[in-house]
Amino acid sequence: MKPKPLKLILCLFLTLYYGFESTAQTTIQFDIVLEGGRVIDPETKLDAIRNVGIQNGRIMMISSDALVGKETIKVSGMVVAPGFIDLHVHGMTNVEQEYQLHDGVTTALELEWGIEHIGAWYASRQGNALIHYGASVCWPFERMKAMARYQDGVDELLDLVHKKEITIQSFFHIGGPSFKEDQTPEESDKTLANIKSALDEGGIGIGVPIGYLPDTKPAEMYSVFELAGELGALVFTHTRHSGILSIQEVIANAMLTGAPLHIVHINSMSLGQIDFALKMVSAAGWKGFDITTELYPYTAASTGLMTAMFNEGWQEKLGIDYGDLQLVATGERLTQETFARNRRTNQYVIMHMMQPEWIARGIAAPGVIIGSDGMPYSKLAHPRTAGTFSRVLGKYVREDQVLDLNTAIEKMTLLPAKRLEGIAPMMRFKGRIQVGADADIIVFDPDTIIDKATFEKGLEFSEGIEYVLVNGTFVLRKGETVSNVFPGKAVYGKFKK
Ligand SMILES: [Zn+2]
Repeated sequence: MKPKPLKLILCLFLTLYYGFESTAQTTIQFDIVLEGGRVIDPETKLDAIRNVGIQNGRIMMISSDALVGKETIKVSGMVVAPGFIDLHVHGMTNVEQEYQLHDGVTTALELEWGIEHIGAWYASRQGNALIHYGASVCWPFERMKAMARYQDGVDELLDLVHKKEITIQSFFHIGGPSFKEDQTPEESDKTLANIKSALDEGGIGIGVPIGYLPDTKPAEMYSVFELAGELGALVFTHTRHSGILSIQEVIANAMLTGAPLHIVHINSMSLGQIDFALKMVSAAGWKGFDITTELYPYTAASTGLMTAMFNEGWQEKLGIDYGDLQLVATGERLTQETFARNRRTNQYVIMHMMQPEWIARGIAAPGVIIGSDGMPYSKLAHPRTAGTFSRVLGKYVREDQVLDLNTAIEKMTLLPAKRLEGIAPMMRFKGRIQVGADADIIVFDPDTIIDKATFEKGLEFSEGIEYVLVNGTFVLRKGETVSNVFPGKAVYGKFKK
């Protein structure tokens, strides 16, 4: 079914609102008014000085007339934009969410990897999240769950969910051995059944990080795409290897099965061939296939040393050597000896492996979404964890003029919202500054916004974002985190029962 335009859905709000206005115009008092800011809405292309009235968590009025609020915030000289929507986040606790909200993010989703025991995880986040949260079904987990000999690991992971300690790293320690094993046809069928029931628990599509299970047989992989095609479930994938052939593999699977596909971090998947990779993705779009991609605005990648990314031959595949790897725990560059030692404990590393011009071209490319791939907290975690969105606006828009402000905002709000709204219907109300949209709003100074996190000094809050509202509740005021508010809500997929 084609989603109805937001305008039609909003008729009810408008009718209610104007009915109210005609009888009681002088008494309208919004909960909050943002006064005199430069309001940018990427869908209607509004870019003008307006006042925004917020009521009950939604935008109820956008006007050049004066509005009355219980609280009025003067925001002249500032941009008022939809909160950023990050499709690709691994750090999902409030510790990481605080960095994210300082970077303008109001919805942070773990869609690449997904989350184990997804129903229990959603329940564990209810009522205590700073910003909106959600996740895809974790294919590597549903796959492991289908293999009876790994049942103990499944229970262990559920314990971690309950203790709110689950991370990809803990899953690697527990589930890693299953990643290297082929499935029997029965196990493969069971995996598909598991994926279906996890979608029923609310998962937003299927996280298929095949790059972490690169020995998976093509037929097994294809069966997951077939299921996604039958259901219309979106596949989020980290491709089998870096390089064009692996990108062609997922595009071919998507075209043949009809599965909607989102390829994560095209920058680290395609490396020096980013133009060719983007050409294929847009060609698929022209031909009517539902295939999209994203990237983060940095020249280094980051992952765990125990992963398949560092299997024999990694130097040639990635075009780097030991000295290009930076240990997250200490910041030191690795040698052959320290590589081997740290690999045994799956330490995270930052991999310096991309050229600035590849990133600039990817950011500027039409239709490419910005997604952070933000990592679990660690002082020296990859700076994308804290600075992705401010960096796009500060460095790539203002300083380097790689793209204009409105296009950048669109890539961080409307495009990710539209990417998801067919599978997570509530996303129709996000990524927009329109009457009836959710009041997920940020206010920032376009002349000063900038990321502060670096590879050398580690995570810092971004600067230049003054206010952040999540469903009409301030989580950031005058650049400071508001304490003891938890307005973040779950974003579920359409299959939720
Ligand atoms: Zn990845």
